Amino acid sequence: MDFSLTNEQKDIKKAAAEFASGEFQSELIQECELNHRFPREIYKKAGELGFIGLDYPDDVGGGSLGIMENVLVIEEFCKADSGMGMAIHLAYLPAKIVKIFGTAEQRLKFLGPLVKGDWVSAVSFTEPDHGSDLTRMETTLEEKADGFVLNGTKIFTTNGAYADFFIVLAQEDPDARPGKGMTTILVERDSSSWLDGKMEINDIPNKMGLRMASSSELVFQDLKISKENILGKRGRGLLNVLDFLDESRIEIGAQALGNCEGAFLKALNHAKERRQFETPIIDFQGIGHKLARMWSQIQSIKWLNYYGAWLCDHGTANMSGSIPLFTSIVKHHVPETAKKIIDDAITVFGGYGYFLEQDVERRYRDNRIVEMYEGTVEVQLNNIVRILKRINPDFLSSTFL
Ligand SMILES: Cc1cc2nc3c(=O)[nH]c(=O)nc-3n(C[C@H](O)[C@H](O)[C@H](O)COP(=O)(O)OP(=O)(O)OC[C@H]3O[C@@H](n4cnc5c(N)ncnc54)[C@H](O)[C@@H]3O)c2cc1C
Repeated sequence: MDFSLTNEQKDIKKAAAEFASGEFQSELIQECELNHRFPREIYKKAGELGFIGLDYPDDVGGGSLGIMENVLVIEEFCKADSGMGMAIHLAYLPAKIVKIFGTAEQRLKFLGPLVKGDWVSAVSFTEPDHGSDLTRMETTLEEKADGFVLNGTKIFTTNGAYADFFIVLAQEDPDARPGKGMTTILVERDSSSWLDGKMEINDIPNKMGLRMASSSELVFQDLKISKENILGKRGRGLLNVLDFLDESRIEIGAQALGNCEGAFLKALNHAKERRQFETPIIDFQGIGHKLARMWSQIQSIKWLNYYGAWLCDHGTANMSGSIPLFTSIVKHHVPETAKKIIDDAITVFGGYGYFLEQDVERRYRDNRIVEMYEGTVEVQLNNIVRILKRINPDFLSSTFL
């Protein structure tokens, strides 16, 4: 058993921290936050320096590394700034489905520009009547002699305002049983790639947090897409999405991990500097114990998150059943714990914590979505119960060892 990071992993973590401290300048953060602007120039720099696509193969310009390396970068970016770190991660995360299921041509076409920071990706699964329950889509996909025709409406698509391509989940067989008959297809923003029809993209304004990333409604009207854009096996769309979620939820966990570490560090500094009753507030047991508990909680979710990433990268075949379990454990436990830690950071700041300037209230708002997207906390707990009902959870006799 070896908990140490490799030298390469330590270098990546350090480089990510240095990049974030140099590029995530507070004036730029304020400007992007207040104008709801995606920091595309910082995303581009992150791509040029190799932070995007660390887990992609080198033939598309990726790092041929793993989920662990991604987690380390996301953690450092979100530790430096929740808004910027999350927006940058969410711009390349959706393309992971192309890494897993794309043909060689699709990988080259879509991942090549993405790893350089030139292209932004998006996933469009959620519909007005289908959020947690993706076992049926109202968006339809119909095969024609020279392509596929998409019709329907998607909501809450992150990056909708500026994504270069969308991975859309659609119902191909309307008579299929729940969860079946769906297909994933790549839709390019560039209308010259369409064979016919229309795609409308409408902004959904006034979010609680995550203000540097756009949220959109997408409406497809007889949008005809070429056959080369079918992603993965037809009819296996939902399974493609679930395989993607196994990896992506571990990375999403790292957003919350970084978000709360950043809040903790700010709170610790404040508690050492702020004096009341002629005493630094860290010396009041109520505040000191709070900080001690926050630090312990951070260590516990950090190692859980790292273990989830390790499992994705190194789990042996007989451990593969543990991945959906741990991915759900990470996806509910890390953001829920992070929410409590950030809330405690606000307490340490007193009234100052309630204002945007100290950043802790923004971290709270940004972090809140981590509990929801890519499957809510309740959905993760359902997954865990489903698995617990059929396995022997006793550690010694399980495959978790
Ligand atoms: C800012 C933001 C960004 C997003 N980005 C994207 C994106 O890029 N692409 C995309 O496709 N989607 C995206 N989503 C959608 C997101 O994944 C869904 O909002 C989420 O999965 C929940 O679906 P819902 O909102 O329809 O809630 P519902 O499914 O209606 O759930 C409402 C409540 O009921 C609970 N619930 C539902 N079913 C069960 C159950 N079986 N057991 C117990 N409780 C249950 C839920 O946990 C929740 O608390 C985004 C959402 C937001 C807010």
